[in-house]
Amino acid sequence: MREAGVTMSQKITGVKASAGIAIGKAFLLTTPDLQINTVAIEEPANEIQRFQEALARAKNDLEGIVLRVEQEMGTDHADIFKAHLLVLEDPELVDTVKDKITSEKINAESALNDVAQGFIGLFEQMDNEYMRERAADIRDVTKRVLSYLLGVPFAGLGELTEEVIIVADDLTPSDTAQLDRRYVKGFVTDIGGRTSHSAIMARSLEIPAVVGTQGITREVQQATLIILDGHEGIAIIDPSEEEIADYRRKQADYEAQKAELAKLVNDKTVTLDNHHVELAANIGSPEDVAGAIANGAEGVGLFRTEFLYMGRNDFPTEEEQYLAYKHVLEHMGDRPVVIRTLDIGGDKHLSYLALPEEMNPFLGHRAIRLCLDNQELFRTQLRALLRASVHGNLKIMFPMIATLEEFRQAKAILEEEKKSLVNRGIVVSDQYEVGMMIEIPAAALMADQFAREVDFFSIGTNDLIQYTMAADRMNEKVAYLYQPYHPAVLRLLHNVIKAGHAQNKWVGMCGEMAGDPIAIPILLGMGLDEFSMSAGSILPARQQLSRLSAEDAAKQMDTILQMSTSVQVEAFVKEWLERV
Ligand code: PEP
Ligand code: MG
Repeated sequence: MREAGVTMSQKITGVKASAGIAIGKAFLLTTPDLQINTVAIEEPANEIQRFQEALARAKNDLEGIVLRVEQEMGTDHADIFKAHLLVLEDPELVDTVKDKITSEKINAESALNDVAQGFIGLFEQMDNEYMRERAADIRDVTKRVLSYLLGVPFAGLGELTEEVIIVADDLTPSDTAQLDRRYVKGFVTDIGGRTSHSAIMARSLEIPAVVGTQGITREVQQATLIILDGHEGIAIIDPSEEEIADYRRKQADYEAQKAELAKLVNDKTVTLDNHHVELAANIGSPEDVAGAIANGAEGVGLFRTEFLYMGRNDFPTEEEQYLAYKHVLEHMGDRPVVIRTLDIGGDKHLSYLALPEEMNPFLGHRAIRLCLDNQELFRTQLRALLRASVHGNLKIMFPMIATLEEFRQAKAILEEEKKSLVNRGIVVSDQYEVGMMIEIPAAALMADQFAREVDFFSIGTNDLIQYTMAADRMNEKVAYLYQPYHPAVLRLLHNVIKAGHAQNKWVGMCGEMAGDPIAIPILLGMGLDEFSMSAGSILPARQQLSRLSAEDAAKQMDTILQMSTSVQVEAFVKEWLERV
């Protein structure tokens, strides 16, 4: 209830996606209302002049964005905007608009809109995905120029000039690739879960995020003040003075806590009883290595290479990939770097690779399945990896392996590429390891068989949990079934770790569960060797592990594995943690 003169704040709950607190103005990521009316004009020359000015302003914007994105995120991420610049300079489009203004004596916005719609319609009907993508470029650029002609502000992620909290229905992986860390202090979305890729990106950018609010975009106006609490998964719209003061205090406490943790950055990760485990970082781009090192990573446990393929218009070449892998390997020195081959499909798409619509994309033609079917794509990446192997401590990992045949086939292709490189006189290290992700229950159950043929396992719980519980990781409605501590999941994990160790293979985990403070004691008890997580979780995990005893943790396993529900497990671990 609202009292006269008193505005009440509104609290919206969602899924905690990335820790931290942000207080700032909302930037509602929506399409501006570009209402176009056709107006007869007397002087075509004046309209052409207005059109050219709008083009010049749009061009100026885009050049600035290209420079900034290149500096902050690398050249690949700037490719989308370079494509937009090409559209702006395309005489087919520009001259057709000018001719239309002159011949039909109509206003510039109407002429541009008509011409652009014509091109968009044409491209959209083409079979070729690349051409359909050009339609999207023309639509974006047209909106930008129209917004100048109409005097309506253009709301794009590349346009930010002040600190904001993004409010959006969803952020695609390529939206997140354009986020400017200087201005984006956090984001909150209608859809998504903790392991959706926007959430994972937020953690690697170390900005607070709340996802899956199921409707915040309907509640927030542009520029409304918001408090975003990534620890609790809440957003407060229009907060009161008291709430702001309270959250400023929490923000300061969190910063102080981070400063305290920063003291552990150069330490090894050892438990109370001197057992060493490795804490590694998950990264999505070569630029993330700096954050991994700054957060004390002892390795990279997962480089999601698909992000190298996103936010651009064509596949990265072998050379581009080689340079990206070399960068990561060199910066990590002798620390291990696990690079995963392309995992596209599911919720990760490439605009230039036409993938047919599937009924169940997470069960569909994705990751290694797609690579084994598109061998040129796969072989290019493998050559880049093999060439980069001389620059550091490389471990190549195949995603979504379900059967031994798939692993053998992927490994055989790798061997073939290695032989052909060596025959061409190119040096390839003989020290790299070849392993696989365990993210399909069939592979988890057959881990003893796989363990004979791999150098290592890394458990991908984000997918393993969704497949074990048959609960889509993106769907808030079934989030209650997405239970990392469910004994069924824990038994699979235990099986994998035991099977790896029986063959003297190291076992890591690169799913989000590896950085979860409730899961960490259990995983330690099971003997997990490597925990790979968002960079921001490493130091808290190091601190937590320093207070735990590996021997004591191992003793709890019999009890935990005999439990019947996730709730029971969680309560047991919480009680255990209170005792240490
Ligand atoms: C996983 O499934 O746990 C994993 C690490 O892979 P991704 O999140 O990229 O699917
Ligand atoms: Mg996965």
